[in-house]
Amino acid sequence: MAESRIIFSGGKLLDGLQAAREGVSVVVAGKRIAAIEEGPVTSGPQDRLVELGGRTLMPGMVQGHFHACFGPCGVGQPGPVLGLEASLPYMGMLAAKNVPTALHCGFTSLIGSSNPGGLDCSIKDAITNGVVEGGRFLACTSEFVTSGAPEDGTNRSWFMELGNLGLIRRLDGPQEFRQAAREEIGRGCDVVKLSISGGHGTSAAQEYCNIRDDELRAVVEVAHDRGKLVRVHCPSKVGILACARNGVDIIDHADRIDAECVDAILEADATVLPSMLWNARFLQIAENWDHDAQPFPIGSGFPEVRDDTMERLRGVRAEYDYTCEAMVAAHEAGVRMLTGDDFGFPMMPHGDYVSEFEIYVKELGIPALDVIGWATRNGGQLVRREGDLGTIEVGQLADLLVVDGDPSEDISCLRATPLAILKDGEFIAKRWSATEA
Ligand SMILES: [Zn+2]
Repeated sequence: MAESRIIFSGGKLLDGLQAAREGVSVVVAGKRIAAIEEGPVTSGPQDRLVELGGRTLMPGMVQGHFHACFGPCGVGQPGPVLGLEASLPYMGMLAAKNVPTALHCGFTSLIGSSNPGGLDCSIKDAITNGVVEGGRFLACTSEFVTSGAPEDGTNRSWFMELGNLGLIRRLDGPQEFRQAAREEIGRGCDVVKLSISGGHGTSAAQEYCNIRDDELRAVVEVAHDRGKLVRVHCPSKVGILACARNGVDIIDHADRIDAECVDAILEADATVLPSMLWNARFLQIAENWDHDAQPFPIGSGFPEVRDDTMERLRGVRAEYDYTCEAMVAAHEAGVRMLTGDDFGFPMMPHGDYVSEFEIYVKELGIPALDVIGWATRNGGQLVRREGDLGTIEVGQLADLLVVDGDPSEDISCLRATPLAILKDGEFIAKRWSATEA
């Protein structure tokens, strides 16, 4: 008996490569896309026909910077409270909620970012074993930092040894970096995360690297030998140049990107993840805060007087305004971009993913079609480097969404839960009563 196929027709096709097309049929057989044809397709009695009725078929999206365990921890502050003082079991419960949330928002793949206690590897196992419903998941390591770096949690509590290291792992020297990368990859991680310099947080970027070239290279060699990725928290110019020149795959944030950085990134074929919703939301809180009524609760990590706070916040604003222009220039110069951000804070909860897309399209003026390409084609290239994910082409894996409206005309239509989600050619969700035989 012939294999049952799923045939989508009568809608728009956004394939992740070009503008939306109408009147195209897409045939899924097994896990993959078997045919794409102009006009209707001759179907057999065993085929499932899905009449799209003007809706849009597009690739499943990739959330490229996913902190699975960030979420409400009962502190109740509006700002960036990480919640990393919560217990690991509690963070596991947050992850078990956040992973299916992302899937049902249309993100059929997730690329992890730093997390404590090997949590990402457990999530990957839970998805594989059907304990948690989730998409493809690249597990990330803890965040590798050096002693005294801004994320070194012992900086301000050294005298009483009170440091809660949370998700960071403090390392010094190439040997320690190499050993940590080997160990965490050995436990199942697919991505190694490092933090090279301060910034992209509550302060403007610092222009020196906390991680030396030999430390960075040690991690990149270990990861690439094993077919794994390296991502780096990297808001500074010197950091971007160091990452590009030492083979880092994902340069997170890249706030101070400029023409010299763009050349180095293009030469290295690296990917940039701007994650600019964080900055926008942080500034929204900071600039609407009544600083006369009470001190701003989100500090640099050190005690500071009001004038210092105001100067620090002006620095964050200036950097954001710079990045809004520089990121557009980098995109136009051909830098490969990826979507994803630090979701899970009270100011940007999990599920609010499309707000990031809206920053690029509505504030920066980047075409919606390009941003869709970041979330689909570019993400797919990182999740599956052999290149069979992220676009709708014959032979690609059938991770697909049916959405109401055309996101290339109005990116905000992605805010609505997709009407259908397929992973590996199977329906995970289908929420409308399409004509279906
Ligand atoms: Zn992050």
